Amino acid sequence: MIISGIIVLKKGKEISLQRFHPWLFSGAIQKMEGLVNDGVWVEVRDANNKTLGFGHYQNGSIAVRMLTFDSVTPDESFYTKKLAQALSLRASAYLPSMHTNCFRLVHGEGDGLTGLVIDYYDGVAIVQAHSTGMHADREAITAGLQAVLKDKLKAVYYKSQGTLPGKIRDEKSDGYLFGMTSVPHIVKEHDQKFLIDWESGQKTGFFLDQRENRKLLADFSRNKKVLNTFCYTGGFSVYALHAGAATVHSVDSSEKAVELTRKNIELNGFDTQQHECFAMDTFDFLKDKKDQYDVIILDPPAFAKHRDAKHQAMKGYQRLNAEAMKMIKSGGIIFTFSCSQVIDRKLFYDTVTSAAIQAGRDIKVLSHLCQPADHPVSIFHPEGEYLKGLVLSVV
Ligand code: SAH
Repeated sequence: MIISGIIVLKKGKEISLQRFHPWLFSGAIQKMEGLVNDGVWVEVRDANNKTLGFGHYQNGSIAVRMLTFDSVTPDESFYTKKLAQALSLRASAYLPSMHTNCFRLVHGEGDGLTGLVIDYYDGVAIVQAHSTGMHADREAITAGLQAVLKDKLKAVYYKSQGTLPGKIRDEKSDGYLFGMTSVPHIVKEHDQKFLIDWESGQKTGFFLDQRENRKLLADFSRNKKVLNTFCYTGGFSVYALHAGAATVHSVDSSEKAVELTRKNIELNGFDTQQHECFAMDTFDFLKDKKDQYDVIILDPPAFAKHRDAKHQAMKGYQRLNAEAMKMIKSGGIIFTFSCSQVIDRKLFYDTVTSAAIQAGRDIKVLSHLCQPADHPVSIFHPEGEYLKGLVLSVV
């Protein structure tokens, strides 16, 4: 890679990098040399001029997103090597398999590629850049994908319009970087089929992070009346029907999501009499449904994306959980989730506890849920854990 500039740290500020934390904050910088512009590769040195590693520079509170932690200058094979490691980690978790051909191939810091997310949908890689450096390197990333996936790779689609910093967002940058294929594209997840539309869908078109939790839901769904709120593509609904649920109701405020759910139910050949969709706000839907459901899934979008929205978000989670706890049948099961990074596991648990107090029902925790193996968390970057869930029994 072309290393454009050098960043020298203040004395003592090397400690977090020695512990492999990938974010270098601007306050740690003593001086900058060479060409240090947004998106370039820089070398980072300690106050004694010893090289600590290399990464992408971006003007802001996180000044360097570290990509290596040694003195070896990363060469042209950098992305190919990292992508090969990421692929091998997935292979160790049996991804892909005969039953599942979609998974997250790169999960940012968890794969040592801070600023980059790649979802893989049976031959199609959707690349999402969260930093200017990854945006600048998108061609090199595509070449790396071609090198590791070889003829399995049919297309690479770049989708960063919603994730790049405002100043470099460019309508024209989203699109195919390699090959082309029509949408929707059909994938398999634990043998259930789903339609994926990365061009107009939310995020990369599907929430791969709920794969194992959807599978677990199946164990609780047989002969049950299931309510899947915030359903998006209807992932949980399809698994519940497959497991033999008596009825499944899917709710989403987006008409497009509800339509997609309907199509996925049909695609899997389920009796549509057993399934009903509602394009409605979840809070409104829950109001007059007391004692109708045995199992309820609460998987809302991130109520808090920033620290300052944390308090509001906690109130949102508390209200949602309390409403569901009040109206579920006695002996019912709630799968409740939070994907807000700023709400950590303990805070989420405490918020659900407050909801239980508010609902005034006897509640037991059956399981603690998290993100799956293809969304790894670097042990040096605990901030990477974002998906938290609880399975609750409500007496
Ligand atoms: N459970 C889904 C992912 C949920 S994503 C899965 O397994 O794939 C969150 C969804 O919540 C989005 O589809 C969004 O349209 C929907 N949503 C957001 N606010 C909502 C609200 N107030 N009521 C109902 N749906 C809402």
